[in-house]
Amino acid sequence: MTVKQVQHLLAYLGYYATEVDGIAGTQTAAAIRAFQQDFGGLAVDGIAGEKTQQALRKAIWEGMPQEPGEDSGDDTVWNRVRYFRREEFRCKCGGRYCEGFPAEPEEALVQAAEQIREHFGVPITVSSGVRCPSHNAGVGGVPNSKHLTGKAMDFSVKGVGAEQVLAYVRLLPQISYAYAIDANYVHMELK
Ligand SMILES: [Zn+2]
Repeated sequence: MTVKQVQHLLAYLGYYATEVDGIAGTQTAAAIRAFQQDFGGLAVDGIAGEKTQQALRKAIWEGMPQEPGEDSGDDTVWNRVRYFRREEFRCKCGGRYCEGFPAEPEEALVQAAEQIREHFGVPITVSSGVRCPSHNAGVGGVPNSKHLTGKAMDFSVKGVGAEQVLAYVRLLPQISYAYAIDANYVHMELK
């Protein structure tokens, strides 16, 4: 691989932002080091040797290897549920006060939602999952709201009234408290 080719691949992967000039200068070395670091299992020496070139090709064709703990493993809540995605529980401040997940939704809560979804056999809309303190205050939540810790959610079940939903929710052992927000929406929370 020529220096130019290496620069092209690094640029494609987002590591090299300056001119593709074929000169192996400090920018190129820094980009190679950053790539080697992220890819893992490579000597972080800033030199595009044979192993690094192989890794570059692999990263282009197959993507960068995922770090442990990233959303790739099988051992996450979201791989154990059928109907819900983490995104649906994102704080609704729209990124103004938080990155979206000041807390993770607790699995017991998500599993309760799964049971409700399964029971009624129709889609559920999550109107509020996790909240950051600013968003919680903005929507009039109590300061110790369980939305802050991923232990509460507000939702509606398509075509099913809140009272009917509530009657079922109250049968779920992990739900300690639930109420109808209006004719359609229910709040439920864990202990
Ligand atoms: Zn927020």
